[in-house]
Amino acid sequence: MKIHEYQAKRLMAERGLAVPEGRVATTPEEAVAAVGPLVEAGGSSVVVVKSQIHAGGRGKGRFVEHPDLAGVNVVTDGVEGGVPSAEAKVRALAETMLGSTLVTVQTGETGTPVRRLYVEQGVAIARELYLSVLLDRATGRNLMMASTEGGTEIEEVADATPEKILRETIDPAVGLADFQARRLALGLGLAGDAAKNGMQFMKALAAFAAEMDTDLVEINPLVVTEDDRVLALDGKMGFDDNALFRHPGVAELRDEAEEDPAEREAGAYGLSFIKLDGSIGCLVNGAGLAMATMDTIKQVGGEPANFLDVGGGATTENVTAAFKIITRDPNVKGIFVNIFGGIMKCDVIAEGVVEAVRQVGLDVPLVVRLEGTNVELGKRIIDASDLDVVSADDMKDGAQKIVEATR
Ligand code: ADP
Ligand code: MG
Repeated sequence: MKIHEYQAKRLMAERGLAVPEGRVATTPEEAVAAVGPLVEAGGSSVVVVKSQIHAGGRGKGRFVEHPDLAGVNVVTDGVEGGVPSAEAKVRALAETMLGSTLVTVQTGETGTPVRRLYVEQGVAIARELYLSVLLDRATGRNLMMASTEGGTEIEEVADATPEKILRETIDPAVGLADFQARRLALGLGLAGDAAKNGMQFMKALAAFAAEMDTDLVEINPLVVTEDDRVLALDGKMGFDDNALFRHPGVAELRDEAEEDPAEREAGAYGLSFIKLDGSIGCLVNGAGLAMATMDTIKQVGGEPANFLDVGGGATTENVTAAFKIITRDPNVKGIFVNIFGGIMKCDVIAEGVVEAVRQVGLDVPLVVRLEGTNVELGKRIIDASDLDVVSADDMKDGAQKIVEATR
C-alpha cells in the first residue's frame, strides 16, 4: 500500500526525522490559510505548492489542462508580473492545480487528477541527495541506498552511473550500524554538522523502515541546507500489505481514489488481480497456475493483460465479477480461461463465465480450457449456452489458440 507525501512526512516527523513544515489543502482557501503560519514558522517567505498523488516525478510533470504548469511549484513573496503576495500566488496556483490532471513519468499518459495539495516551507537547498530503504528479496533484509545524485530519477543514475549508488545491507538485529552510516556519509561527501545530521537521519530512517514494515521508503531529494541541516524534501513510501494489521494507523491512510479501480474491485470480491500491459486477459485459479499461464502465453508470443487468480473457494458471483473486470479493460483483445478444478469446480467457473457474458456481452475471442473436478459438467454448461467459445485441450494449446485468435 502506498501513501501520500504529506502522510509520509507526518509519520517521519512523529519519529524524529527532519522534514519541512507543511499543511495539506483540498481547497484554495485551505492552501491560502497555510501560507501565513508557514512563513512565520520558517522565517522565509518562500513556500512550495506540491500536488499530492501517489506517483513521483511531479516536479517535471505537467498538467493536461495547463501544459506549462508543473506539479510542484515554488512561490516567492513580493510583486511579480502584477501578482502581489505569496498568498495571492498560492490561491491562483491552487485554483489551477486542484481538479486538474497531472501527467508524470510514473502516471502513464492519462495522468492522475490532483485532489490535494501540500503547502510546504521553502527550503534553502545546498545539496540534493538520494536516500532510500528497500526490501532486498535476495538477502531478505532491508537495504539502504544513497547517492549524491538526488533530485533525478534513481533508475537513470543506476543505468548511466551505477557506481554513484552506495549500498549498505541492514542487519535486522543491529539496525544501521554506526560504521555503515559513517561510510555512507563519507561517500556522500558530507562533513562536519552535515555529516552528523546525515548519519542521524540515516539511522533513524533504517529504524523507521524496520518498525513500520515498509517495503520502500524513498527520500528523493534528501537535502542539505545552507546551514548544514539534513531533511527530507520528498517522501515516497510503500507498506507491506501483509503487515498492515500491525499498523492500524497506517492502514487508515489508504487513499482508494489513487488505486487502480479494477484492482480495488477485485479485492472486494476476494480475487487476486494485477493489471499488466498486454492484450490477453487471463482468468485462472491458483497463483501457481496463473504464473504458468502467463509464462505460456509469453512463450507462444502473446502478452498477458492481467494476473487473475479467482482462488479456490470462488462462487459463480466471484467468477462473474472477475470476468467483467477483464472484459472492461479496453486493452483486452482476447480472453483465456484456464482452470484446473481441484477445490474449485469446473461447473462453477463455467456458470460464472456464461452468466458474465449474458450480463455484459462478449466482443473478443474466448478460449476455455477446463480440467479436473466436474469437468464434464462444466463443458456441458458451456456447450448448452450459445457462447462463441473455442475449447482447448491443454494449457499450451489454449495459449496458442488465444494468441492466434487475437492476431
Ligand atoms: P517529485 O519527486 O515528485 O518531482 P519532489 O518533492 O521531489 O517531487 O519535488 C521536486 C523538486 O522540487 C525537488 O527536487 C526540489 O528541488 C524541489 N522542492 C520540493 N520541495 C521543496 C521545498 N520544500 N523547498 C524547496 N524546494 C523544494
Ligand atoms: Mg522527489
